[in-house]
Amino acid sequence: MATHKLLLLPGDGIGVEVVGEVKKLLAWLEGKGLASFAIEEDLVGGAAYDDHGESISEAAMKKAAEADAIIFGSVGGPKWAGVPFDKRPEAGLLRLRKDLDLFANLRPAIVYPALADASTLKREVVEGLDILIVRELTGGTYFGEPKEIVTLESGEKRAVDTQVYTTREIKRIAEVAFELARVRRNLVHSSEKHNVMKSGLLWKEVVTELHKAKFSDVKLEHILADNCAMQLVRNPKQFDVIVTDNLFGDILSDAASMVTGSLGMLPSASLGAEINGKRHALYEPVHGSAPDIAGKGLANPIAEFGSFAMALRYSLGLGSLADALERAIARVLAEGVRTADIAAKGENAVGTAEMGKAVIGALDKELATA
Ligand code: NAD
Repeated sequence: MATHKLLLLPGDGIGVEVVGEVKKLLAWLEGKGLASFAIEEDLVGGAAYDDHGESISEAAMKKAAEADAIIFGSVGGPKWAGVPFDKRPEAGLLRLRKDLDLFANLRPAIVYPALADASTLKREVVEGLDILIVRELTGGTYFGEPKEIVTLESGEKRAVDTQVYTTREIKRIAEVAFELARVRRNLVHSSEKHNVMKSGLLWKEVVTELHKAKFSDVKLEHILADNCAMQLVRNPKQFDVIVTDNLFGDILSDAASMVTGSLGMLPSASLGAEINGKRHALYEPVHGSAPDIAGKGLANPIAEFGSFAMALRYSLGLGSLADALERAIARVLAEGVRTADIAAKGENAVGTAEMGKAVIGALDKELATA
């Protein structure tokens, strides 16, 4: 059996609690002889800053580069509000994304039937929703130069951010989207603003050419980013895979995620380029460190479990175990187990450890009947 190298980076706040549940799952899987892991753990974010004055150490970066998958919790919190900008907790995560060139951010938005009422949209609009947003993560407005605030002669200030994309950057993210669509429902919506932005024009052109050359079996639709935002709240089930740039992806994926009802349910993956059958990959929940509930044992670990399921599928070659884990999550929800963030008024809520135990118990049942 292959031994998979994992680096656990729990980080701050509830990151530590939810990664703690994944650790129990790892031990359980090994105990059952279902998988074998070589596990390392290190500090990131505020915890790393408190320990050695940086948001991630060189040693942790080296382990990250060598890992088959990084299982990340969350970083940040009010305790570190005053630390220098380049040492703030988020800088550790940004460095991982940048140094490992994790350009493809995958954010599924799934509505489990048992939780359809947790959405602010009507049950019939969201029940059974299963979409995947593929966001370009290392280019565009957040990284383009010049990026500055300058004082003009008049004393007025001027701020500049630069939206910039190259053919290569657009092509590689579109490739990921088309490939994923092939194993889903075979539909890609490419979202940009070609009507008002040069980068949108190039984006549309490159995606269209790539589609013609390599992916004509996949259905491709182009959609303006503003219309995409509207359609996501009007009729989200029309989508399968949406591919978009860094800035629009940030906004569209947050909108899509809220359609599902709770931050505690949402996993994500950030992938690098595949080189010799291997790629750098970081898996993390969409939520932050939730300082308001940290340390209380109340956090929902499902987003972290879902992120680990993505690691099983995309990095460890254990797709059927990933399917079983996702079915286990659905089973637990169908049985009515709820943490406070997803409990309806008057419903009993369990804590982090009980939810973790319930998911592992359901996985045991799923594997026994598989
Ligand atoms: P947050 O996601 O931490 O919390 C928002 C709300 O959702 C809170 O009420 C929280 O209790 C709740 N929540 C989030 N995850 C939950 C879970 N698993 N179970 C139950 N409830 C959950 O966002 P925020 O409050 O805006 O940010 C808090 C800190 O986290 C900030 O320092 C922020 O910078 C950081 N942050 C980090 C990441 C990351 O590590 N990738 C992402 C977002 C925010």
